Amino acid sequence: MRSISVLGATGSIGASTLDLIRRNRGAWRVVALTANGNAAALAALAREFDAEIAVCADPAALPALREALAGTAIEAAAGPEALVEAAARPADLVMAAIVGCAGLAPTMAAIEQGKTVALANKEALVSAGEVMTAAVARHGTTLLPVDSEHNAIFQCLQGGRVEEVRWVTLTASGGPFRDWTLEQLHTATPAQAIKHPNWSMGAKISVDSATMFNKGLEFIEAYHLFPVGLERLRIIVHPQSIIHSMVEYRDGSTLAQLGPSDMRVPIASCLAYPGRMETPLASQLDLAAIGELTFRAPDEERFPATRLARQAAQAGGCIPAVLNAANEVAVAAFLDNRIGFTRIAAMVEEVLARYAPPPPTSLEDVYAVDAQARLHAQALMEMA
Ligand code: NAD
Ligand code: MG
Repeated sequence: MRSISVLGATGSIGASTLDLIRRNRGAWRVVALTANGNAAALAALAREFDAEIAVCADPAALPALREALAGTAIEAAAGPEALVEAAARPADLVMAAIVGCAGLAPTMAAIEQGKTVALANKEALVSAGEVMTAAVARHGTTLLPVDSEHNAIFQCLQGGRVEEVRWVTLTASGGPFRDWTLEQLHTATPAQAIKHPNWSMGAKISVDSATMFNKGLEFIEAYHLFPVGLERLRIIVHPQSIIHSMVEYRDGSTLAQLGPSDMRVPIASCLAYPGRMETPLASQLDLAAIGELTFRAPDEERFPATRLARQAAQAGGCIPAVLNAANEVAVAAFLDNRIGFTRIAAMVEEVLARYAPPPPTSLEDVYAVDAQARLHAQALMEMA
């Protein structure tokens, strides 16, 4: 029996992870489950999986969580310190699936255990970059990528050596607006943005997928996960989302990982690593029914996000953290109907222009940059 903690248990990735655990109840002991403020949903999961501890990030949720767990042996806690303490509890595997830079401290606490961390929380890696990869190396942690593209690349890299890689190609669906004109993009609404054609995901990543910031963040994520160098990373739009990414080696062989658009596939590959497990998919990959796989180059005129992310990765230092923070603020404002869709990338670019890249050397540095960039983004919004 292995033990697992799920950070962000009430989210989309959390639900997919627990769905796989539910079908293999005898194989797993659940340590910590966490959420932001939804005490009722978290308590229901903690009861179902007989967790050791349930933690809400929002301290105000504590009374409701305590009440919902009354009569059980499950510990209830809330607040940022409790979240980090729960992430640091011994577990064979920690699923890091909080959304945003808010997941950074608990993810780092999980990494410091020196066991295995399945990383979905891409914003944490983008913001902390070398601070996180250095902690992984220092503690001898196994970091398994959950993001479907990075999970695909990770699998394709089993087929050769990193020094022999010619290209790592991240595929992108292009999002719900991939065929929209710039004029149409100005009018895009939150409801339209969160309706992804291929994947069902949380609101933030759905908007990121529509702006292509998701691919931009993934570009920086890939740079940190796979040491092939920025010049060997590229992005291609593949609307069917069947090929999840590819690795080309110097002999001209390209390895790709294919599968249905269901996050339970990459999650299962992390849960069973280095083995394989059954997944309860609605349908298997049927290429004859799909018929055609198509590809096109990204259009950075309509979707500047991948250009901004590449520039941020090249600049290095604190710049990716600034990009992430400004994007988080802009996405929240867009979801709140406070700014238009195309203003998201414009705002990120304006905030980025104000920064020079001193490299953050600690978690505190990363949080300081993150907080400052958020203030800048807020200020820009109030000016507009
Ligand atoms: P989601 O919004 O569905 O869930 C987010 C989870 O984080 C919830 O449990 C929520 O309670 C918790 N949370 C939110 N704010 C928090 C805070 N301030 N402090 C602590 N906890 C907080 O998001 P999701 O779609 O599951 O995505 C989670 C992460 O996985 C993101 O980083 C996303 O980019 C990444 N990811 C998601 C998918 C997908 O298909 N959903 C695919 C690849 C990567
Ligand atoms: Mg992805």
